[in-house]
Amino acid sequence: MIQGSCHCGAVTYRFEGQPDGATACNCTVCRRYGVLWAYDYEGEGIHVSGKTQAYVRGTAIEFHFCPSCGCVAFWRARKLNDAGKRRIAVNLRLAEPDVVADIPIDHFDGLDKWEDLPRDGRCVGDYWF
Ligand SMILES: [Zn+2]
Repeated sequence: MIQGSCHCGAVTYRFEGQPDGATACNCTVCRRYGVLWAYDYEGEGIHVSGKTQAYVRGTAIEFHFCPSCGCVAFWRARKLNDAGKRRIAVNLRLAEPDVVADIPIDHFDGLDKWEDLPRDGRCVGDYWF
Protein backbone atom coordinates (compact mmCIF):
# COMPACT_ATOMS: atom_id res chain seq x y z
CA MET A 1 0.00 0.00 0.00
CA ILE A 2 1.14 3.54 -0.77
CA GLN A 3 0.00 6.57 1.17
CA GLY A 4 0.34 10.14 0.02
CA SER A 5 -0.23 13.49 1.64
CA CYS A 6 -0.10 17.11 0.59
CA HIS A 7 2.46 19.25 2.39
CA CYS A 8 0.11 20.56 5.09
CA GLY A 9 -1.57 17.15 5.56
CA ALA A 10 -5.14 18.23 4.79
CA VAL A 11 -5.43 16.04 1.67
CA THR A 12 -4.39 12.39 1.73
CA TYR A 13 -4.73 9.30 -0.45
CA ARG A 14 -4.28 5.57 -0.19
CA PHE A 15 -3.26 3.35 -3.10
CA GLU A 16 -3.87 -0.34 -2.48
CA GLY A 17 -1.03 -2.57 -3.62
CA GLN A 18 1.79 -1.48 -5.87
CA PRO A 19 1.25 0.37 -9.18
CA ASP A 20 2.67 -1.22 -12.36
CA GLY A 21 4.12 2.11 -13.37
CA ALA A 22 4.17 5.84 -12.74
CA THR A 23 2.99 7.91 -15.67
CA ALA A 24 4.90 11.01 -16.68
CA CYS A 25 2.78 12.94 -19.17
CA ASN A 26 3.83 15.92 -21.27
CA CYS A 27 0.37 17.39 -21.84
CA THR A 28 -0.15 21.10 -21.25
CA VAL A 29 -1.41 20.50 -17.69
CA CYS A 30 0.80 17.65 -16.44
CA ARG A 31 4.05 19.16 -17.59
CA ARG A 32 3.27 22.30 -15.60
CA TYR A 33 2.33 20.36 -12.47
CA GLY A 34 5.33 18.04 -12.74
CA VAL A 35 3.23 15.14 -11.48
CA LEU A 36 3.74 11.35 -11.66
CA TRP A 37 0.45 9.47 -11.83
CA ALA A 38 -0.65 6.05 -10.55
CA TYR A 39 -4.07 4.98 -11.86
CA ASP A 40 -6.98 2.97 -10.58
CA TYR A 41 -10.67 3.48 -9.82
CA GLU A 42 -12.13 5.62 -7.08
CA GLY A 43 -13.24 3.60 -4.08
CA GLU A 44 -11.44 0.48 -5.38
CA GLY A 45 -7.66 0.69 -5.58
CA ILE A 46 -7.61 4.38 -4.66
CA HIS A 47 -9.21 6.21 -1.74
CA VAL A 48 -8.85 9.97 -1.26
CA SER A 49 -9.80 12.16 1.66
CA GLY A 50 -9.70 15.81 2.62
CA LYS A 51 -11.25 18.92 1.15
CA THR A 52 -9.83 19.85 -2.24
CA GLN A 53 -10.26 22.50 -4.87
CA ALA A 54 -10.49 21.39 -8.50
CA TYR A 55 -9.23 22.73 -11.78
CA VAL A 56 -11.77 21.46 -14.27
CA ARG A 57 -10.34 20.87 -17.71
CA GLY A 58 -13.02 20.50 -20.36
CA THR A 59 -15.77 17.96 -19.78
CA ALA A 60 -13.72 14.87 -19.00
CA ILE A 61 -11.24 15.54 -16.22
CA GLU A 62 -10.66 17.56 -13.08
CA PHE A 63 -7.38 18.10 -11.23
CA HIS A 64 -7.67 18.31 -7.45
CA PHE A 65 -5.29 20.22 -5.25
CA CYS A 66 -5.09 21.25 -1.61
CA PRO A 67 -6.61 24.73 -1.16
CA SER A 68 -4.21 25.42 1.69
CA CYS A 69 -0.76 24.30 0.47
CA GLY A 70 -1.44 23.93 -3.27
CA CYS A 71 -0.14 20.38 -3.82
CA VAL A 72 -1.80 18.55 -6.73
CA ALA A 73 -3.05 15.31 -5.18
CA PHE A 74 -5.13 13.54 -7.84
CA TRP A 75 -7.21 13.82 -10.97
CA ARG A 76 -10.57 12.18 -11.42
CA ALA A 77 -12.83 11.57 -14.39
CA ARG A 78 -15.93 13.75 -14.39
CA LYS A 79 -18.09 10.89 -15.65
CA LEU A 80 -18.35 7.22 -14.80
CA ASN A 81 -17.17 4.75 -17.44
CA ASP A 82 -19.43 2.15 -19.07
CA ALA A 83 -18.90 -0.20 -16.13
CA GLY A 84 -20.09 2.49 -13.69
CA LYS A 85 -16.59 3.09 -12.33
CA ARG A 86 -14.75 6.37 -11.96
CA ARG A 87 -11.18 6.62 -13.21
CA ILE A 88 -8.81 8.35 -10.83
CA ALA A 89 -5.05 8.77 -10.52
CA VAL A 90 -2.95 9.97 -7.61
CA ASN A 91 0.26 11.96 -7.70
CA LEU A 92 3.10 9.73 -6.52
CA ARG A 93 5.20 12.78 -5.70
CA LEU A 94 3.08 13.10 -2.56
CA ALA A 95 4.29 9.72 -1.28
CA GLU A 96 7.43 9.06 0.75
CA PRO A 97 10.33 8.84 -1.75
CA ASP A 98 11.71 5.47 -0.65
CA VAL A 99 8.30 3.81 -0.93
CA VAL A 100 7.87 4.68 -4.62
CA ALA A 101 11.50 4.92 -5.77
CA ASP A 102 11.57 1.63 -7.73
CA ILE A 103 8.33 2.09 -9.67
CA PRO A 104 9.15 2.31 -13.41
CA ILE A 105 8.25 5.46 -15.32
CA ASP A 106 5.73 5.15 -18.14
CA HIS A 107 5.95 7.98 -20.63
CA PHE A 108 2.65 9.14 -22.04
CA ASP A 109 2.68 11.56 -24.95
CA GLY A 110 -0.38 13.59 -24.01
CA LEU A 111 0.71 16.53 -26.12
CA ASP A 112 1.02 15.28 -29.71
CA LYS A 113 0.22 11.62 -30.29
CA TRP A 114 -1.91 10.69 -27.25
CA GLU A 115 -0.15 7.36 -26.85
CA ASP A 116 2.26 5.52 -24.59
CA LEU A 117 5.94 5.72 -25.45
CA PRO A 118 8.44 2.94 -24.67
CA ARG A 119 9.94 2.70 -21.20
CA ASP A 120 13.51 3.92 -20.90
CA GLY A 121 14.52 2.18 -17.68
CA ARG A 122 14.09 5.17 -15.39
CA CYS A 123 12.16 4.87 -12.14
CA VAL A 124 10.44 7.36 -9.86
CA GLY A 125 13.62 7.60 -7.82
CA ASP A 126 15.39 9.02 -10.89
CA TYR A 127 12.91 11.88 -11.05
CA TRP A 128 13.34 13.37 -7.61
CA PHE A 129 16.33 15.50 -8.53
ZN1 LIG B 1 -2.26 20.84 2.01
